[in-house]
Amino acid sequence: GPAVVWFRDDLRIADNPALYAASRSGAPVLCVYVWDDESPGLRPPGGAGRWWLHHSLADLAASLERLGGALTVLRGPSEKVIGDLLRETNASAIFWNRRYGGAERRIDAGVKTSAREAGVEASSFGASLLFEPWTIRTGHGTAFSVYTPFWRACLSAPPPRNPGPAPRSLDGAPTPRSARAVSLDDLGLLPTHPDWAGGLRETWAPGEAAAHKQLTRFVDGDLASYTEDRDVPGVDATSRLSPRLRWGELSPHQVWHAARERRDRHADPATARSATTFLGELGWREFAYHTLFEHPDIATVNIHRQYDSFPWARLHPSVLEAWQQGRTGIPLVDAGMRELWTTGVMHNRVRMVAASFLIKNLLIDWRRGEQWFWDTLVDADPANNPFNWQWVAGSGADAAPYFRVFNPELQREKFDPHGDYVRRWVPEWDTEEYPEPVVDLKESRRAALAAYDVVKASR
Ligand code: FAD
Repeated sequence: GPAVVWFRDDLRIADNPALYAASRSGAPVLCVYVWDDESPGLRPPGGAGRWWLHHSLADLAASLERLGGALTVLRGPSEKVIGDLLRETNASAIFWNRRYGGAERRIDAGVKTSAREAGVEASSFGASLLFEPWTIRTGHGTAFSVYTPFWRACLSAPPPRNPGPAPRSLDGAPTPRSARAVSLDDLGLLPTHPDWAGGLRETWAPGEAAAHKQLTRFVDGDLASYTEDRDVPGVDATSRLSPRLRWGELSPHQVWHAARERRDRHADPATARSATTFLGELGWREFAYHTLFEHPDIATVNIHRQYDSFPWARLHPSVLEAWQQGRTGIPLVDAGMRELWTTGVMHNRVRMVAASFLIKNLLIDWRRGEQWFWDTLVDADPANNPFNWQWVAGSGADAAPYFRVFNPELQREKFDPHGDYVRRWVPEWDTEEYPEPVVDLKESRRAALAAYDVVKASR
């Protein structure tokens, strides 16, 4: 029977250990993707994520066909769907790259056990993180809860392996006649009525080849001034690789080695420093995933449980809507929220400010903001998004202390001094049309600190 490759967050053919192992197994290769919005605990992608996923799967399918294979799309609860597939095709083996969320790990462990009981070889590989969570531990054998010592421990661990090649060709197995098989279009991942994805189409070209072009362009270009410009939203100074990493069009190993090579290739001191800063950001991604591994319910439960008693305000829903739609009357926040709606991403500095404004000035539960980002970001993933929301809220790992409340106006003056960014997204800023702030910044800051006293008192 065939060797099955189960694609998940690794929509690429290069540096894909599961695909590579299958191509070397001697058996015909059957590549599958399972759309699962049924298994409890799994979090199906939001609207923007579904848009990206559709196009990235189409690109992957085309690449696999060029190699002699095909992508079979199945729909249903993954443990059952994969189990049935292994039986129906009389598969000899199944290969996948690991996931780190709680429900994902439970499902994968279940599939592995039942495959092996049925005599099917089941192998999983590390491909989506530079360091496996169980290998990075404190001296006491526990997980790190602070970034700096975490990243130091990573850097003194065995270095990330070199990226591997794509298979030269695949001996594709015949497409199974499973009742669960559907076409990609059948999944209905794209918006239709209304089609709100125009901004996404203008901004992005999902797929592995485009991801590699973007990586090369960044490493040979903007990386040189990354340290200096990365906090300035009006300058396109960051890599914009987050959706590529989210969907696995690129592996972190490919990104890591490209940046390392640039640093080692006669880099001037500023470029070398920038490369180190950039690698440290990949470190935050690692830290978020390792934190997810430790706290599988990171999207719903405060890591620091004393925040459970936080007295969130009960505001009129129109306030949340004003934030979502970029009509708060705070220019940097509104610019960010509109960038998000149009392009599916938001500059990191502005994500911090917009999140802080929701949590601390509007006193709206961080989970509401996290949910909105989940639905609108093309890079939303089960680790980075809740991790960063909890970080801003103060309830998370190595979080900013709660009482550090960003002033969004000062942030704008500091990071967008000429208003380039704000004017790009809020052209009516400085006109009569632009709304008054939905809250008074000073008063709401005081209210936030008073609310925080409740948390402190409950310790
Ligand atoms: P670069 O500056 O070029 O960084 C390179 C890579 O490092 C990124 O692509 C990303 O993979 C990683 N990275 C950078 N900063 C962080 C960080 N703070 N935490 C984790 N990884 C990081 N990032 C996501 O990928 N998905 C999310 O859902 C997400 N949600 C966020 C929510 C909030 C409230 C905040 C404050 C940040 C969030 N981030 C998220 C982190 C960060 O904003 C984005 O990774 C970054 O803006 C992506 O742009 P870039 O690829 O140009 O980043």
